[in-house]
Amino acid sequence: MSGYDLICVENGEKVEERYTLSCPNGHNSLLRAEYHSKQLNPQDYDNIFKYSDWLPVKTVFESKAKPVCFRSEKLSKELGLSDLWVGFTGYYPERNAHAVSGSFKELEALPTYSRLHDYSDDTIVIASAGNTARAFAEIGNQIGKNCVIVVPEKAEDRITVSNDRGFAKLLSVKGDYADAIAVADRIAAKDGYVPEGGAKNIARRDGMGTVMLEGALTIGHIPDRYFQGVGSGTGGISAWEAAVRLMDDGRFGDRLPVLELSQNEPFLPMAKAWNAGRRNIVPEDLGEDPATDVAAVYADVLTNRKPPYGIAGGVYDAMVACNGRFHTASNTEAKDAEKLWMSIENVRPDPAASVALATLIKAVDEGKVGKDDCILLNMTGGGRERAKEELSLQTVKPVARLCTDVSDEDLAEVL
Ligand SMILES: *Cc1c(COP(=O)(O)O)cnc(C)c1O
Repeated sequence: MSGYDLICVENGEKVEERYTLSCPNGHNSLLRAEYHSKQLNPQDYDNIFKYSDWLPVKTVFESKAKPVCFRSEKLSKELGLSDLWVGFTGYYPERNAHAVSGSFKELEALPTYSRLHDYSDDTIVIASAGNTARAFAEIGNQIGKNCVIVVPEKAEDRITVSNDRGFAKLLSVKGDYADAIAVADRIAAKDGYVPEGGAKNIARRDGMGTVMLEGALTIGHIPDRYFQGVGSGTGGISAWEAAVRLMDDGRFGDRLPVLELSQNEPFLPMAKAWNAGRRNIVPEDLGEDPATDVAAVYADVLTNRKPPYGIAGGVYDAMVACNGRFHTASNTEAKDAEKLWMSIENVRPDPAASVALATLIKAVDEGKVGKDDCILLNMTGGGRERAKEELSLQTVKPVARLCTDVSDEDLAEVL
Protein backbone atom coordinates (compact mmCIF):
# COMPACT_ATOMS: atom_id res chain seq x y z
CA MET A 1 0.00 0.00 0.00
CA SER A 2 1.49 3.25 -1.11
CA GLY A 3 1.38 6.80 0.11
CA TYR A 4 1.77 9.55 -2.43
CA ASP A 5 0.98 13.13 -3.31
CA LEU A 6 -0.61 14.09 -6.58
CA ILE A 7 1.32 16.92 -8.25
CA CYS A 8 0.69 19.09 -11.30
CA VAL A 9 3.84 18.75 -13.43
CA GLU A 10 3.43 22.30 -14.82
CA ASN A 11 3.83 24.17 -11.54
CA GLY A 12 4.56 21.48 -8.95
CA GLU A 13 1.47 22.23 -6.90
CA LYS A 14 -0.30 19.55 -4.93
CA VAL A 15 -3.68 18.50 -6.27
CA GLU A 16 -6.45 16.73 -4.40
CA GLU A 17 -6.53 13.03 -5.24
CA ARG A 18 -9.96 11.64 -6.11
CA TYR A 19 -9.04 9.55 -9.13
CA THR A 20 -8.20 12.97 -10.57
CA LEU A 21 -7.17 12.89 -14.22
CA SER A 22 -6.37 16.51 -15.03
CA CYS A 23 -5.17 19.63 -13.28
CA PRO A 24 -8.10 21.29 -11.51
CA ASN A 25 -6.36 24.65 -12.01
CA GLY A 26 -6.58 24.26 -15.75
CA HIS A 27 -2.93 23.70 -16.61
CA ASN A 28 -2.24 21.82 -19.83
CA SER A 29 -0.21 19.33 -17.87
CA LEU A 30 -0.10 15.77 -16.76
CA LEU A 31 -0.42 15.06 -13.06
CA ARG A 32 2.20 12.90 -11.44
CA ALA A 33 2.40 10.78 -8.31
CA GLU A 34 5.14 11.58 -5.82
CA TYR A 35 5.59 8.52 -3.67
CA HIS A 36 6.52 8.92 -0.04
CA SER A 37 8.71 5.86 -0.22
CA LYS A 38 11.90 7.04 -1.95
CA GLN A 39 13.30 3.55 -2.10
CA LEU A 40 11.64 0.71 -3.90
CA ASN A 41 10.64 -2.12 -1.57
CA PRO A 42 9.31 -4.99 -3.63
CA GLN A 43 6.26 -6.48 -1.90
CA ASP A 44 5.50 -10.12 -1.53
CA TYR A 45 3.08 -10.47 -4.47
CA ASP A 46 3.71 -12.54 -7.55
CA ASN A 47 2.10 -9.93 -9.79
CA ILE A 48 2.33 -6.25 -10.60
CA PHE A 49 1.48 -5.33 -7.00
CA LYS A 50 5.01 -6.37 -6.12
CA TYR A 51 5.61 -2.70 -7.03
CA SER A 52 2.68 -1.25 -5.07
CA ASP A 53 5.12 1.08 -3.28
CA TRP A 54 5.30 2.99 -6.52
CA LEU A 55 1.77 2.47 -7.74
CA PRO A 56 -1.06 4.85 -6.80
CA VAL A 57 -3.04 2.11 -5.09
CA LYS A 58 -4.23 1.02 -1.67
CA THR A 59 -6.20 -1.98 -2.88
CA VAL A 60 -4.44 -4.96 -4.38
CA PHE A 61 -6.19 -7.56 -6.50
CA GLU A 62 -5.38 -11.09 -7.48
CA SER A 63 -4.18 -11.61 -11.01
CA LYS A 64 -1.16 -13.17 -12.63
CA ALA A 65 -0.40 -10.11 -14.74
CA LYS A 66 3.10 -8.75 -14.25
CA PRO A 67 6.06 -7.64 -16.33
CA VAL A 68 8.86 -10.14 -16.81
CA CYS A 69 12.44 -9.43 -17.81
CA PHE A 70 14.86 -11.99 -19.21
CA ARG A 71 17.94 -12.43 -21.30
CA SER A 72 17.46 -14.09 -24.62
CA GLU A 73 20.89 -15.62 -25.28
CA LYS A 74 20.05 -16.48 -28.87
CA LEU A 75 18.60 -13.07 -29.69
CA SER A 76 21.62 -11.36 -28.10
CA LYS A 77 23.93 -13.52 -30.17
CA GLU A 78 21.93 -12.92 -33.33
CA LEU A 79 22.17 -9.15 -32.84
CA GLY A 80 25.73 -9.22 -31.55
CA LEU A 81 24.77 -7.49 -28.30
CA SER A 82 26.41 -8.44 -25.01
CA ASP A 83 23.98 -6.81 -22.60
CA LEU A 84 20.50 -7.11 -24.09
CA TRP A 85 17.47 -7.63 -21.85
CA VAL A 86 13.91 -8.28 -22.90
CA GLY A 87 10.95 -6.93 -20.99
CA PHE A 88 7.92 -8.98 -21.96
CA THR A 89 4.24 -8.70 -21.14
CA GLY A 90 1.74 -11.06 -22.66
CA TYR A 91 1.03 -14.77 -22.65
CA TYR A 92 4.24 -16.77 -22.66
CA PRO A 93 4.08 -19.41 -19.90
CA GLU A 94 7.64 -20.69 -20.48
CA ARG A 95 8.85 -17.23 -19.51
CA ASN A 96 6.40 -16.93 -16.64
CA ALA A 97 4.28 -14.35 -18.50
CA HIS A 98 0.54 -14.73 -17.93
CA ALA A 99 -1.06 -11.52 -19.19
CA VAL A 100 -3.59 -13.54 -21.15
CA SER A 101 -5.04 -10.66 -23.15
CA GLY A 102 -1.59 -10.42 -24.69
CA SER A 103 -0.24 -6.96 -23.96
CA PHE A 104 1.16 -4.61 -21.33
CA LYS A 105 -2.22 -2.86 -21.25
CA GLU A 106 -2.96 -5.32 -18.41
CA LEU A 107 -0.27 -3.52 -16.40
CA GLU A 108 -2.34 -0.36 -16.87
CA ALA A 109 -5.70 -1.98 -16.20
CA LEU A 110 -4.87 -3.50 -12.81
CA PRO A 111 -3.67 -0.35 -11.00
CA THR A 112 -6.38 1.68 -12.74
CA TYR A 113 -9.08 -0.54 -11.24
CA SER A 114 -7.33 -0.32 -7.86
CA ARG A 115 -6.98 3.44 -7.92
CA LEU A 116 -10.61 3.85 -8.90
CA HIS A 117 -11.72 1.36 -6.24
CA ASP A 118 -9.86 3.42 -3.62
CA TYR A 119 -12.00 6.48 -4.36
CA SER A 120 -15.36 5.38 -5.71
CA ASP A 121 -17.68 2.67 -6.97
CA ASP A 122 -17.87 4.23 -10.41
CA THR A 123 -17.66 2.10 -13.52
CA ILE A 124 -14.88 2.61 -16.01
CA VAL A 125 -15.71 3.30 -19.67
CA ILE A 126 -13.42 2.33 -22.53
CA ALA A 127 -13.75 3.10 -26.24
CA SER A 128 -11.50 0.60 -27.97
CA ALA A 129 -11.63 -2.76 -29.67
CA GLY A 130 -7.96 -3.38 -29.25
CA ASN A 131 -5.51 -4.25 -26.54
CA THR A 132 -6.84 -1.68 -24.07
CA ALA A 133 -10.39 -3.04 -24.21
CA ARG A 134 -9.21 -6.65 -24.03
CA ALA A 135 -7.03 -5.87 -21.03
CA PHE A 136 -9.78 -4.06 -19.10
CA ALA A 137 -12.30 -6.78 -19.98
CA GLU A 138 -9.93 -9.58 -18.94
CA ILE A 139 -8.81 -7.96 -15.70
CA GLY A 140 -12.34 -6.77 -14.85
CA ASN A 141 -13.55 -10.37 -15.09
CA GLN A 142 -10.58 -11.67 -13.09
CA ILE A 143 -11.05 -9.29 -10.17
CA GLY A 144 -14.84 -8.77 -10.33
CA LYS A 145 -14.95 -5.11 -11.37
CA ASN A 146 -17.37 -3.75 -13.96
CA CYS A 147 -16.37 -1.96 -17.11
CA VAL A 148 -18.25 -0.68 -20.13
CA ILE A 149 -16.58 -1.18 -23.50
CA VAL A 150 -17.84 0.66 -26.54
CA VAL A 151 -16.79 -0.59 -29.98
CA PRO A 152 -17.78 0.08 -33.58
CA GLU A 153 -19.99 -2.73 -34.83
CA LYS A 154 -17.39 -4.15 -37.22
CA ALA A 155 -15.16 -4.86 -34.23
CA GLU A 156 -17.77 -6.31 -31.89
CA ASP A 157 -16.30 -9.83 -32.05
CA ARG A 158 -12.79 -8.83 -30.99
CA ILE A 159 -13.06 -8.81 -27.21
CA THR A 160 -12.09 -12.10 -25.65
CA VAL A 161 -11.61 -13.08 -22.00
CA SER A 162 -10.43 -16.22 -20.26
CA ASN A 163 -13.45 -16.49 -17.98
CA ASP A 164 -16.51 -14.43 -18.88
CA ARG A 165 -18.29 -13.63 -15.63
CA GLY A 166 -20.23 -10.76 -17.13
CA PHE A 167 -18.16 -7.91 -15.70
CA ALA A 168 -17.37 -6.41 -19.12
CA LYS A 169 -20.46 -4.89 -20.69
CA LEU A 170 -19.94 -4.61 -24.42
CA LEU A 171 -21.86 -2.00 -26.43
CA SER A 172 -21.67 -2.08 -30.19
CA VAL A 173 -22.21 1.18 -32.08
CA LYS A 174 -23.20 1.59 -35.74
CA GLY A 175 -20.45 3.51 -37.53
CA ASP A 176 -16.72 3.86 -37.05
CA TYR A 177 -14.38 4.46 -34.11
CA ALA A 178 -15.32 8.14 -33.91
CA ASP A 179 -18.94 7.10 -33.39
CA ALA A 180 -18.00 4.61 -30.68
CA ILE A 181 -15.90 7.27 -28.95
CA ALA A 182 -18.78 9.75 -29.09
CA VAL A 183 -21.10 7.27 -27.34
CA ALA A 184 -18.40 6.33 -24.81
CA ASP A 185 -17.87 10.02 -23.97
CA ARG A 186 -21.58 10.43 -23.30
CA ILE A 187 -21.56 7.44 -20.95
CA ALA A 188 -18.39 8.53 -19.15
CA ALA A 189 -20.01 11.93 -18.47
CA LYS A 190 -22.91 10.27 -16.62
CA ASP A 191 -23.06 9.91 -12.85
CA GLY A 192 -21.50 6.64 -11.83
CA TYR A 193 -19.12 6.40 -14.80
CA VAL A 194 -15.55 7.55 -15.39
CA PRO A 195 -13.19 7.49 -18.35
CA GLU A 196 -10.04 5.34 -18.18
CA GLY A 197 -8.08 8.52 -18.79
CA GLY A 198 -5.29 7.29 -21.05
CA ALA A 199 -1.92 8.91 -20.38
CA LYS A 200 -3.59 11.32 -17.95
CA ASN A 201 -4.21 8.52 -15.52
CA ILE A 202 -1.21 8.12 -13.16
CA ALA A 203 -2.30 4.54 -12.54
CA ARG A 204 -1.94 3.67 -16.20
CA ARG A 205 1.47 5.32 -16.47
CA ASP A 206 2.92 3.94 -13.27
CA GLY A 207 1.52 0.52 -14.17
CA MET A 208 3.40 0.59 -17.47
CA GLY A 209 6.44 1.93 -15.63
CA THR A 210 6.77 -1.37 -13.79
CA VAL A 211 8.49 -2.77 -16.91
CA MET A 212 11.36 -0.36 -16.20
CA LEU A 213 11.26 -1.31 -12.50
CA GLU A 214 11.33 -5.03 -13.29
CA GLY A 215 14.14 -4.38 -15.76
CA ALA A 216 16.27 -2.40 -13.32
CA LEU A 217 15.71 -4.94 -10.56
CA THR A 218 16.63 -7.85 -12.83
CA ILE A 219 19.61 -6.13 -14.45
CA GLY A 220 20.78 -4.51 -11.22
CA HIS A 221 20.72 -0.94 -12.53
CA ILE A 222 18.93 1.41 -14.92
CA PRO A 223 19.61 0.31 -18.54
CA ASP A 224 21.46 2.60 -20.96
CA ARG A 225 18.71 2.41 -23.57
CA TYR A 226 15.00 1.62 -23.65
CA PHE A 227 13.38 0.47 -26.91
CA GLN A 228 9.59 0.58 -27.34
CA GLY A 229 7.03 0.95 -30.11
CA VAL A 230 4.72 3.89 -29.35
CA GLY A 231 1.32 5.10 -30.46
CA SER A 232 0.40 7.41 -27.61
CA GLY A 233 3.92 7.40 -26.21
CA THR A 234 2.57 6.77 -22.72
CA GLY A 235 5.00 3.90 -22.26
CA GLY A 236 7.89 6.26 -23.00
CA ILE A 237 6.67 8.79 -20.45
CA SER A 238 6.24 5.96 -17.95
CA ALA A 239 9.74 4.59 -18.51
CA TRP A 240 11.18 8.07 -17.92
CA GLU A 241 9.15 8.62 -14.74
CA ALA A 242 10.08 5.19 -13.40
CA ALA A 243 13.76 5.80 -14.17
CA VAL A 244 13.68 9.15 -12.33
CA ARG A 245 12.32 7.35 -9.27
CA LEU A 246 15.02 4.70 -9.58
CA MET A 247 17.69 7.42 -9.74
CA ASP A 248 16.27 9.05 -6.62
CA ASP A 249 16.33 5.65 -4.94
CA GLY A 250 20.11 5.80 -5.21
CA ARG A 251 20.81 2.09 -5.75
CA PHE A 252 20.24 1.82 -9.50
CA GLY A 253 22.62 4.33 -11.04
CA ASP A 254 22.51 8.03 -11.71
CA ARG A 255 21.75 8.20 -15.41
CA LEU A 256 18.45 8.20 -17.23
CA PRO A 257 18.08 5.67 -20.04
CA VAL A 258 18.07 6.98 -23.60
CA LEU A 259 14.51 6.63 -24.85
CA GLU A 260 14.57 4.80 -28.20
CA LEU A 261 10.95 5.05 -29.31
CA SER A 262 9.57 3.78 -32.57
CA GLN A 263 6.66 4.17 -34.95
CA ASN A 264 5.50 2.14 -37.94
CA GLU A 265 5.85 3.63 -41.44
CA PRO A 266 4.04 5.34 -43.03
CA PHE A 267 2.14 6.81 -40.04
CA LEU A 268 4.74 8.69 -37.98
CA PRO A 269 3.27 11.77 -36.27
CA MET A 270 5.54 11.83 -33.21
CA ALA A 271 8.64 10.71 -35.07
CA LYS A 272 8.14 13.53 -37.58
CA ALA A 273 7.40 16.20 -34.99
CA TRP A 274 10.39 15.16 -32.89
CA ASN A 275 12.79 14.93 -35.80
CA ALA A 276 11.69 18.41 -36.93
CA GLY A 277 12.36 19.71 -33.41
CA ARG A 278 8.72 20.56 -32.75
CA ARG A 279 7.07 20.55 -29.37
CA ASN A 280 3.69 20.14 -31.01
CA ILE A 281 2.35 17.87 -33.68
CA VAL A 282 1.26 19.90 -36.73
CA PRO A 283 -1.08 18.65 -39.48
CA GLU A 284 1.80 17.81 -41.85
CA ASP A 285 3.15 15.34 -39.24
CA LEU A 286 -0.02 13.30 -39.78
CA GLY A 287 0.72 13.01 -43.51
CA GLU A 288 -1.35 14.12 -46.48
CA ASP A 289 -3.87 11.35 -46.07
CA PRO A 290 -3.83 10.13 -42.47
CA ALA A 291 -6.67 7.62 -42.90
CA THR A 292 -4.82 5.83 -45.70
CA ASP A 293 -1.53 5.85 -43.79
CA VAL A 294 -3.21 4.54 -40.64
CA ALA A 295 -4.82 1.74 -42.65
CA ALA A 296 -1.44 0.84 -44.17
CA VAL A 297 0.53 0.09 -40.99
CA TYR A 298 1.08 -3.40 -39.62
CA ALA A 299 1.00 -2.37 -35.94
CA ASP A 300 -2.30 -0.57 -35.61
CA VAL A 301 -1.90 0.07 -31.87
CA LEU A 302 0.79 2.56 -32.94
CA THR A 303 -1.57 4.84 -34.84
CA ASN A 304 -2.79 7.31 -32.22
CA ARG A 305 -3.58 10.64 -33.90
CA LYS A 306 -3.65 12.72 -30.73
CA PRO A 307 -0.85 11.47 -28.51
CA PRO A 308 0.06 13.34 -25.28
CA TYR A 309 3.15 14.71 -26.97
CA GLY A 310 3.39 18.45 -26.22
CA ILE A 311 1.53 18.49 -22.88
CA ALA A 312 3.69 19.31 -19.82
CA GLY A 313 5.20 16.06 -18.59
CA GLY A 314 4.38 14.34 -21.88
CA VAL A 315 6.37 12.61 -24.60
CA TYR A 316 8.33 15.67 -25.71
CA ASP A 317 9.49 16.41 -22.18
CA ALA A 318 10.39 12.75 -21.66
CA MET A 319 12.44 12.74 -24.87
CA VAL A 320 14.28 15.93 -23.92
CA ALA A 321 15.05 14.65 -20.42
CA CYS A 322 16.23 11.26 -21.72
CA ASN A 323 18.12 12.51 -24.74
CA GLY A 324 15.72 10.36 -26.77
CA ARG A 325 15.57 9.32 -30.39
CA PHE A 326 12.67 8.35 -32.63
CA HIS A 327 13.10 5.43 -34.99
CA THR A 328 10.84 4.08 -37.70
CA ALA A 329 10.31 0.66 -39.25
CA SER A 330 8.46 -0.42 -42.37
CA ASN A 331 5.94 -3.26 -42.33
CA THR A 332 8.48 -5.50 -44.06
CA GLU A 333 11.13 -4.74 -41.46
CA ALA A 334 8.66 -5.40 -38.66
CA LYS A 335 7.62 -8.74 -40.19
CA ASP A 336 11.25 -9.75 -40.70
CA ALA A 337 11.93 -8.93 -37.04
CA GLU A 338 8.90 -11.00 -36.08
CA LYS A 339 10.27 -13.97 -38.03
CA LEU A 340 13.61 -13.67 -36.32
CA TRP A 341 11.96 -13.51 -32.90
CA MET A 342 9.77 -16.53 -33.65
CA SER A 343 12.75 -18.57 -34.77
CA ILE A 344 14.12 -18.03 -31.25
CA GLU A 345 11.20 -17.60 -28.86
CA ASN A 346 8.06 -19.71 -28.80
CA VAL A 347 5.45 -16.99 -29.09
CA ARG A 348 4.23 -14.51 -31.73
CA PRO A 349 4.87 -10.91 -30.73
CA ASP A 350 2.27 -8.19 -31.06
CA PRO A 351 3.12 -6.25 -34.25
CA ALA A 352 3.99 -3.21 -32.12
CA ALA A 353 6.65 -5.23 -30.32
CA SER A 354 8.00 -6.39 -33.67
CA VAL A 355 8.35 -2.74 -34.70
CA ALA A 356 10.46 -2.08 -31.60
CA LEU A 357 12.64 -5.10 -32.32
CA ALA A 358 13.00 -4.07 -35.98
CA THR A 359 14.28 -0.64 -34.97
CA LEU A 360 16.76 -2.20 -32.55
CA ILE A 361 18.07 -4.43 -35.34
CA LYS A 362 18.45 -1.37 -37.59
CA ALA A 363 20.11 0.68 -34.88
CA VAL A 364 22.67 -2.10 -34.37
CA ASP A 365 23.29 -2.41 -38.13
CA GLU A 366 23.75 1.34 -38.46
CA GLY A 367 26.08 1.56 -35.50
CA LYS A 368 23.67 3.76 -33.53
CA VAL A 369 24.03 1.62 -30.43
CA GLY A 370 27.16 0.15 -28.93
CA LYS A 371 27.63 -3.64 -28.84
CA ASP A 372 28.06 -3.55 -25.08
CA ASP A 373 25.33 -1.01 -24.27
CA CYS A 374 22.87 -2.22 -21.68
CA ILE A 375 19.62 -2.34 -23.62
CA LEU A 376 16.10 -2.98 -22.37
CA LEU A 377 13.86 -4.00 -25.25
CA ASN A 378 10.23 -3.72 -24.23
CA MET A 379 8.30 -6.46 -26.03
CA THR A 380 4.98 -4.87 -25.14
CA GLY A 381 2.76 -7.72 -26.24
CA GLY A 382 2.61 -11.25 -27.54
CA GLY A 383 1.05 -14.68 -27.27
CA ARG A 384 -2.55 -13.84 -28.09
CA GLU A 385 -2.91 -16.75 -30.47
CA ARG A 386 -1.44 -19.18 -28.00
CA ALA A 387 -3.68 -17.89 -25.23
CA LYS A 388 -6.67 -18.32 -27.51
CA GLU A 389 -5.77 -21.95 -28.18
CA GLU A 390 -4.43 -23.02 -24.83
CA LEU A 391 -6.94 -21.22 -22.63
CA SER A 392 -9.95 -21.43 -24.96
CA LEU A 393 -10.78 -17.76 -24.59
CA GLN A 394 -14.42 -16.73 -24.80
CA THR A 395 -15.73 -13.94 -27.02
CA VAL A 396 -17.68 -11.31 -25.10
CA LYS A 397 -21.12 -10.79 -26.65
CA PRO A 398 -22.55 -7.28 -27.03
CA VAL A 399 -25.41 -6.50 -24.65
CA ALA A 400 -26.78 -3.91 -27.07
CA ARG A 401 -26.31 -2.49 -30.55
CA LEU A 402 -26.78 1.26 -30.63
CA CYS A 403 -26.92 4.14 -33.08
CA THR A 404 -24.94 7.29 -32.29
CA ASP A 405 -28.18 9.23 -31.92
CA VAL A 406 -29.43 6.86 -29.20
CA SER A 407 -31.58 8.81 -26.73
CA ASP A 408 -30.38 9.36 -23.15
CA GLU A 409 -33.28 7.24 -21.90
CA ASP A 410 -32.38 4.31 -24.15
CA LEU A 411 -28.72 4.63 -23.21
CA ALA A 412 -29.60 4.60 -19.50
CA GLU A 413 -31.77 1.55 -20.17
CA VAL A 414 -28.97 -0.61 -21.63
CA LEU A 415 -26.56 0.42 -18.88
C1 LIG B 1 -0.69 0.20 -26.60
C2 LIG B 1 0.45 -0.60 -27.08
C3 LIG B 1 1.65 0.01 -27.47
C4 LIG B 1 1.86 1.49 -27.49
O1 LIG B 1 1.93 1.97 -26.21
P1 LIG B 1 2.01 3.50 -25.84
O2 LIG B 1 3.17 3.59 -24.95
O3 LIG B 1 0.71 3.83 -25.18
O4 LIG B 1 2.20 4.29 -27.08
C5 LIG B 1 2.70 -0.81 -27.84
N1 LIG B 1 2.57 -2.14 -27.87
C6 LIG B 1 1.43 -2.77 -27.52
C7 LIG B 1 1.35 -4.24 -27.59
C8 LIG B 1 0.32 -2.01 -27.11
O5 LIG B 1 -0.81 -2.64 -26.78
